[in-house]
Amino acid sequence: MTAIQAPRPRPGLLDIDPYIGGEARTVPHPKLGRPIRLASNEGAFGPSPKAMAAYRELSGEIHRYPDGGCSALREALAERYGLDAGRIVAGAGSDELIALMAKCYAGPGDEVLYSRHGFLMYPIAAKAVGATPVAAPEADRKTDVDALLAHVTPRTRILYLANPNNPTGYLLPKGEVERLHAALPPDAILVLDAAYAEYIDDPEYSPGADLVDRAQNVVMLRTFSKIYGMGALRLGWAYASAAITDVLNRARGPFNVSAAAQAAGVAALADQDFVAKSRAHNAEWRRWTAAELEALGLSVLPSAGNFLLIDFGGRDAEAARLYLKDKGILVRQMGAYGLPTCLRITIGTEEEMRAVVEALAEHLRRR
Ligand SMILES: *Cc1c(COP(=O)(O)O)cnc(C)c1O
Repeated sequence: MTAIQAPRPRPGLLDIDPYIGGEARTVPHPKLGRPIRLASNEGAFGPSPKAMAAYRELSGEIHRYPDGGCSALREALAERYGLDAGRIVAGAGSDELIALMAKCYAGPGDEVLYSRHGFLMYPIAAKAVGATPVAAPEADRKTDVDALLAHVTPRTRILYLANPNNPTGYLLPKGEVERLHAALPPDAILVLDAAYAEYIDDPEYSPGADLVDRAQNVVMLRTFSKIYGMGALRLGWAYASAAITDVLNRARGPFNVSAAAQAAGVAALADQDFVAKSRAHNAEWRRWTAAELEALGLSVLPSAGNFLLIDFGGRDAEAARLYLKDKGILVRQMGAYGLPTCLRITIGTEEEMRAVVEALAEHLRRR
């Protein structure tokens, strides 16, 4: 053969539709004088001033390798959430840990299960290791335990469950999570992705640490990218059994978390007033925004996260998104999630939420 051929990657890699993040650039909003970015669920208030100070303070030390064991961070997390520091593994965002779990526990011939409108990184992580992603159907865009269990086979290695789920916002009550776990075979791992846990104040909810402590096959994932507002630094963590922790620590990069992320993470954890303020703000403006959008005739799914999934039904969601973008407001399109009639809108500041509601009202009036 004379044509020059690209080297062939492992099976599965070329089946990946690359993850496309929320857009970050548009014109400034006329009233606010800057773009309004509501496409990536970044906390409304940005990072805690304490995290920013810790980040700045580190600048003279960036020639030093970070602590590869993330000791101070793991201890701070253990203290804050009442966990065993020895079973915490930090990562460059929880995305790294999602991928690392697949790399360690799945491969060709194995199945990786998730819910139909679950987080997009799950099928990507499966394909990246040559495993087969399996999507269980959802009724009414709600995670369905029976449908998930019906899709478990002897080949199922990992079940990824975002709780609450992004992008639907659906919260699976802890009794249902326990029922799901109880029916899973012990050699299948339940990965509970609790990226939005800090926003929730509901006795029906558990991020899953208690289940991790009771079982050998459960992992809880958390992130600093949402309520802590530190997406740029890439910081997430896993809480797992001793056996899974050991495996993750063997497979991860020795310096996978930057010193800046570690320092800012410790400082952010110490600022729980910021977290409480963010949680209260989110609950208030999520409620307000949902009510305003429903009053415009839009269908809004109940959400436990810092975002709302809006179904435009017969009205053109993409036209609405482009209208908002033109006004300096970025929201997320949902085609990649199989929800083309929907847009996802992050809960931002009060002035941002007033601006997005006003712009959507204008758009719908014109049509
Ligand atoms: C945002 C998000 C993540 C990714 O978080 P990073 O820590 O920034 O990688 C993981 N899971 C879910 C469900 C998310 O919404």
